[in-house]
Amino acid sequence: MRVVLLGPPGAGKGTQAQIIAGRLGVPAISTGDIFRANVSGGTELGTKAKVYMDAGDLVPDEITVAMVSDRLAEPDAKAGFLLDGFPRTIAQAEQLRSSLADLGQRLSCVLELVVDEDELVRRLSGRVVIVDGKPVQRDDDKPETVRHRLEVYHAQ
Ligand code: AMP
Repeated sequence: MRVVLLGPPGAGKGTQAQIIAGRLGVPAISTGDIFRANVSGGTELGTKAKVYMDAGDLVPDEITVAMVSDRLAEPDAKAGFLLDGFPRTIAQAEQLRSSLADLGQRLSCVLELVVDEDELVRRLSGRVVIVDGKPVQRDDDKPETVRHRLEVYHAQ
């Protein structure tokens, strides 16, 4: 199964990705998680991505697409995958289509999570994540950044 999970920030993609990928026995690949791991690890990719992430903007397509292509080439993704947070732009979607075509593959399905806008803002502004055993608010979950991320989602 090759699945894409679409939906605005705060819709619950990460939560559903774990459940669905677990049932299907495929890896859940979250571009947001990969970027955050690179930011915490202080990699070159993380340093580039952080500027955009802190502003609530999308990381440029060429950086994101290269990262996803590398991830999809890993052995555990050969038999299937669930993408969480990718594609987020038309260019990324087209790139995904052509990468899959090159491999003779196609998507099995696309799931879109639909959630009321006020509910998204409520969820994101109140969300805490656990980092090193402590609850913290993600930098990009501050109310101004949340509104901007939703605008970016709808625009792209
Ligand atoms: P998320 O955890 O999915 O909300 O992603 C957090 C941040 O990572 C986003 O606000 C973007 O800055 C960046 N990001 C994640 N996925 C993508 C993507 N497909 N394209 C560009 N930027 C992304």
